[in-house]
Amino acid sequence: MKNIAVIGSGTMGNGIAHVFAQHGFSVSLTDVSEASLKRGMAAIEKNLGRQVEKGVITEAQKRDALTRIVPTTQLGEGVRDADLVVEAATENTDLKLKIFADLDALAKPGAVLASNTSSISITRIAAATKRPAQVIGMHFMNPVPVMKLVEVIRGYDTSSEVTATIMALSQQLDKVPVEVNDYPGFVANRILMPMINEAIYALYEGVAGVPEIDTVMKLGMAHPMGPLQLADFIGLDVCLAILRVLHDGLGNPKYAPCPLLVNMVQAGHKGIKSGSGFYQYTSGSKELVVAKRFER
Ligand code: NAD
Repeated sequence: MKNIAVIGSGTMGNGIAHVFAQHGFSVSLTDVSEASLKRGMAAIEKNLGRQVEKGVITEAQKRDALTRIVPTTQLGEGVRDADLVVEAATENTDLKLKIFADLDALAKPGAVLASNTSSISITRIAAATKRPAQVIGMHFMNPVPVMKLVEVIRGYDTSSEVTATIMALSQQLDKVPVEVNDYPGFVANRILMPMINEAIYALYEGVAGVPEIDTVMKLGMAHPMGPLQLADFIGLDVCLAILRVLHDGLGNPKYAPCPLLVNMVQAGHKGIKSGSGFYQYTSGSKELVVAKRFER
């Protein structure tokens, strides 16, 4: 594989384009939004710069990586020559089904179509194409240039050959791929989200406060971030949406989202992205401040 098309230039898409370009692949980066594409390219430049400062890559490697990425707002342009398409557009089922039907029509017959979805069924996405054997999940973690894991998700019809190709390709990116089957939440979110939900229940039931819950998990379990801080980082709306996928898909009440989480999302407190969640965030400050409502 040489030519990679990345669809969506947001948080994940720009990270995925960055990592492929850094490892010598030609990348086209497509977004429907010109503004998002600009922000995405600026983020790539900034993050490559950070890697130069840390001595991970040289200034020349940064420049080479940047020249390998071609931004575009035309889906057809980047996809036509792609050996692999990695879709990282907004997490919305109808949108992804439409994108995959379009990709199927535009991409060459041998191309593999991958999705970075956190929670939508790969099997369902594959069924929107005429090449379900060549559709697979490639679930990178945030921030993509830093995190080692790629969850490689095998849909119901994904071929062994395509799975092996994507496992090997992930290793070429200096990542550690893990193969999993396509069930709600895959492995990462099936285990992470119930933990976050339980932390929110513990807060809701008054078992302990925000910093206490996070400190127990950080110092007691050696987690780099407590579950409530992590939920703010991921986005409380995203956590809620994934819990609903687990609840609907597995039909088990143990996945029901905590009413406090539902309320917070309804009130617009979505974590870092909205300025407040379990903690409150001031731009430019790294201090972790508990949100007023949760002060004790
Ligand atoms: P984001 O909102 O930062 O970016 C999504 C981008 O997709 C936006 O720039 C938007 O303009 C673009 N887009 C929307 N419709 C499009 C279309 N038809 N064609 C091309 N681009 C389109 O979202 P994100 O956080 O980068 O998430 C992207 C995907 O990655 C989602 O499926 C999400 O579940 C998954 N994911 C996110 C994380 C995370 O921590 N943010 C982690 C793992 C996986």
